Amino acid sequence: MDLLEHQGKQLFARHGLKVSSGEAVSTVEDAVRAAKAVGYPVVVKAQVLIGGRGKAGGVKLAADEGQAREHARNILGMDIHGHTVRTLWIEHASDIASEYYASVLLDRSAKQPLVMFSVEGGVDIEEVAERSPEKLIRRHVDALAGLSREEAVRIASDGKADADVIDGVADALVALYEVWLQEDATLAEINPLIVTPEREVKALDAKVSLDGNALFRHPENQSLSDRENEDPIERRAGEQGVQYVKLDGDIGILGNGAGLVMSTLDVVAQAGGSPANFLDAGGGSDAEKIKQAVELILANDAVKAVLFNIFGGITRGDEVAKGLIAAFAEIKPSVPFVVRLDGTNDIEGRQLLQEAALPNVHAARTMNEAAEKVVALAAGHGVGAPA
Ligand code: GDP
Ligand code: MN
Repeated sequence: MDLLEHQGKQLFARHGLKVSSGEAVSTVEDAVRAAKAVGYPVVVKAQVLIGGRGKAGGVKLAADEGQAREHARNILGMDIHGHTVRTLWIEHASDIASEYYASVLLDRSAKQPLVMFSVEGGVDIEEVAERSPEKLIRRHVDALAGLSREEAVRIASDGKADADVIDGVADALVALYEVWLQEDATLAEINPLIVTPEREVKALDAKVSLDGNALFRHPENQSLSDRENEDPIERRAGEQGVQYVKLDGDIGILGNGAGLVMSTLDVVAQAGGSPANFLDAGGGSDAEKIKQAVELILANDAVKAVLFNIFGGITRGDEVAKGLIAAFAEIKPSVPFVVRLDGTNDIEGRQLLQEAALPNVHAARTMNEAAEKVVALAAGHGVGAPA
């Protein structure tokens, strides 16, 4: 889960990293009001989940109200590499003497946390790594011991930070490591970490990714996900506890068990179709859950046909059939369904479906047959009489 700059800075501040105070706003008028509150000069910053905002014109200094208004007006609604700007962060502008770089992440191949530091900040760090790798200090940390102050000082001096800010940089590294560890982040990056003319070390930018699987340990961070940029169907699915991922195609998919759903996606692709989603109804789905799943699948307008691929274990075929019948009673789908029911109570399930005689629902015996049928139906071809 990637955080916006101002959300990352909120976490930084919580762990004692120095940041400028500011305000997140979504209108030009609020931007002007916030600018006055933090005091000119200010910096107006696009809040989008992508880097390189400065180069794209999404970060602008404003010396007075006229400039703040103009920049806010230009940046709001701006498209930055496919991300629309809906939120601005207004903070008091900092004077910059130097721009450094610092980050903490998990190095999976080494199975250890990795701290990186460079005095060549404010630019693309991959470029620094390529052009002058000796200027990017990479130091693994013992995960159990954590990053000691001594080690942080060594990183700062090995990286040739100015002598009078070695302590400040070391403090920042220790705090950044604490953010990464205690907030269950997968990445905590500051680019640039600046030194001001007053020799203060502070984070001018923040890039933080939190581990979504650990979010339950941080109820205070739950509200940080960028809900507005999230797909609305995926958000709804998340709220209902359904594993749903939106894809580009036009064939809705429902299966039970992630493995079965993934193979269903493969089989549909092999049959020449293109899945519209991944949806794992999970084990032991009851009729109500199936109904919810159908609603989610059909909320995507691109869907032209739906494939139900159920292999009953804990999930019972008759419950799936009941859910489908209940869904049809309420939603009256306008697209065809193909249903393959196998495993626990499959005979009962198929019997229920036959009796209900749902319009435009086709039975299939095998996964391959189901895939071929649904691909034909999505393409607008007939497949014979409905089940
Ligand atoms: P990014 O381009 O998305 O990485 O956005 P940053 O937050 O890193 O800002 C880009 C650049 O804008 C920084 O490297 C700075 O050079 C400049 N910048 C951002 N904030 C300030 C500020 O408060 N004062 C000054 N002088 N420059 C700033
Ligand atoms: Mn940056």
